Amino acid sequence: MARVYNFSAGPAVLPEEVLKEAAAEMLDYQGSGQSVMEMSHRSKVFDKIIKDAEQDLRDLLNIPDNYKVLFLQGGAHLQFAMIPMNLMKNKVADYIVTGQWAKRAFKEAQKFGDAKCIASSEDKTFSYIPDCSDLLIDENADYVYICENNTIYGTKFKTLPNTKGKDLVADVSSCFLSEPMDVSKYAVIYGGAQKNIGPAGVVIVIIREDLITEDVLPGTPTMLQYKTHADNDSLYNTPPCYGIYICGKVFKWLKKQGGLEVMKERNEKKAAILYDFLDQSKLFKGTVEKNSRSLMNVPFVTGDADLDAKFIKEATEAGFVNLKGHRSVGGMRASIYNAMPIEGVEKLVAFMKKFEEENA
Ligand SMILES: *Cc1c(COP(=O)(O)O)cnc(C)c1O
Repeated sequence: MARVYNFSAGPAVLPEEVLKEAAAEMLDYQGSGQSVMEMSHRSKVFDKIIKDAEQDLRDLLNIPDNYKVLFLQGGAHLQFAMIPMNLMKNKVADYIVTGQWAKRAFKEAQKFGDAKCIASSEDKTFSYIPDCSDLLIDENADYVYICENNTIYGTKFKTLPNTKGKDLVADVSSCFLSEPMDVSKYAVIYGGAQKNIGPAGVVIVIIREDLITEDVLPGTPTMLQYKTHADNDSLYNTPPCYGIYICGKVFKWLKKQGGLEVMKERNEKKAAILYDFLDQSKLFKGTVEKNSRSLMNVPFVTGDADLDAKFIKEATEAGFVNLKGHRSVGGMRASIYNAMPIEGVEKLVAFMKKFEEENA
C-alpha cells in the first residue's frame, strides 16, 4: 500500500493514526459488535462519542462556558444562510470580502437584509487582507463577518478587524485548530470539517449563548434555527454520526500532539519551508502579499500555464497529488493542513527544486 502526499484543499488529508484506528474499529466499535455507522444516535455508546468530541474540542480551544458547540450539516454554505436568518435582528450586517467564500456569504446575506461590503481585496485578485483597523461599521450592524483564512487565495487575517464593539462572525473552515484562538473575541465561529478536522458532512458551530434565541427572521425553518440544535445537544435529528466520530478522533490526536500551541509551531515550520523556497526560486512565485500569507493554503505559479500543467502532471506521478490551484485562479496550491507531515513539505520542496533545475 502506498499512500500519497495529499495537498488537497478539501476534503483533505487526515492523520494516518486516526484512519488506522477507525479501520480497526470498523466491524466492532469497542465491544459493541457494531460499527459507529450502524448504531443508534440515541445509544449510550454514541452519546459518549459526541460528548467526548465536544469536551475535547472545548479543551483544545479553551471554549468559555457561555458558548455552545453544535455539530451540524449542510457545510459552510448553509451557514452563509443560517447566520443572517438567526442573527440579523436589525436586518443590517457588514461583510469583509476577502475571497470567493466571503463573497458567497455576503451575497446570501443580501437575501435577508441590508448586507454591506465594508472592505474588499477583490481589486488585486484577493491576494491580500485589507486594513480593517478603522472601517465604516454601521451602527445598526447585527454583526461583522469575515472569512478568516481564504482557502482559494491563501490569505489569512493576522489581526482580527476592529468591529467597534459589534459581534464578529468568522468562517474558519480552512484554519480550524491550526493554531490557538481566543474564542471570546468572536460571537460565532464556524467551519466545515473537511478541511482541517474530519470528513465532509459535518460543520462545527461555536456560538455565544445569548445569540441563541427564538427571535429569528420570520419563516426560518426549524432545522435552520440554532436554538433547535442547541436545545437538543445537536441531537434534534440524526446527526452525521460517523463524521462526528472521526472528528472526535482527530481532537484526541491533536491533544496527543500537545495541543494547538504545538500545532501552530509545527504549521509555522512547515509553511516556512515552502515560503522560503518560493522567495528564492527563479521559477516558482508565491501569489500572496507576505504579511497576509496563510499557514494552511499556499498558492504559487510559474507564470506559464503550460509549465504549471507540466509541473502538476510530474508531481502527481511522483506521488504529490491535488496540487492544482482552484479553477478560479489557476496555477498550483499546496494545502498543508495539520495532518500533512513535515516530510511531505520537505519532499515537495525537493521535488520543486529538481523541477526548477530541469526546466531552467
Ligand atoms: C471549503 C470552504 C467553504 C465551502 O464549504 P462547503 O462545505 O463546501 O460548503 C466555505 N468557506 C471556506 C473558508 C472554505 O474553505
